[in-house]
Amino acid sequence: MDADPDLETALLGPLVAHRTCGDCTVCCTVLKVAAPDFSKPADTPCAHLGAQGCTIHAARPGICRDWFCGWRRVAAMPEAARPDRSGLLVSLGFERAPRNCLEGVAVTVRRLEGSGAIEDGTAAAVLDALCDRLVPVWFSDGARKMLMHPDEEVAGHVLTGTPPPAPLAAEVAAWRARYAAFAAPDATR
Ligand code: SF4
Ligand code: SF4
Repeated sequence: MDADPDLETALLGPLVAHRTCGDCTVCCTVLKVAAPDFSKPADTPCAHLGAQGCTIHAARPGICRDWFCGWRRVAAMPEAARPDRSGLLVSLGFERAPRNCLEGVAVTVRRLEGSGAIEDGTAAAVLDALCDRLVPVWFSDGARKMLMHPDEEVAGHVLTGTPPPAPLAAEVAAWRARYAAFAAPDATR
């Protein structure tokens, strides 16, 4: 829960009109919050989270008012992908010390413990909905974090600076142009 809401709107889109959080409180447990006026560790229920949801809803911190997961913003994600139903949490994150330029600002799809989203095809549908824009997408299953978008060949050229074949040149150039500012010092040499 650390990306700028305006950046989220620019990269993921505005809120989907008909979607609401309902009974879902996944982000209140899974995500780390590090706002000036409120913080909590990752994978820990917020101290304000009760059986019926946020116990301070009317006075909740600004970041909780402004932040929404990917399911609230990406209409192409299936209805069934609501995080409490699918066990998938999609969030846009900002990494202050990225290992490479595709980690600085990126979408992470987290598979939560007990999720059947890979087996029932929801994870594939979610990735299809997310991997169509100039935003890196990572998939995390808790043990490993894998880059899903851009694909391996494009990512290789973006990260190493090697000249791409002509059919990939425009795509590689677009990724470099947008994300070069996040390159770690030794990732583009
Ligand atoms: S994870 Fe998404 S749907 Fe669930 S409470 Fe947070 S913003 Fe709402
Ligand atoms: S303050 Fe409320 S909305 Fe914010 S993380 Fe805690 S329980 Fe969720």
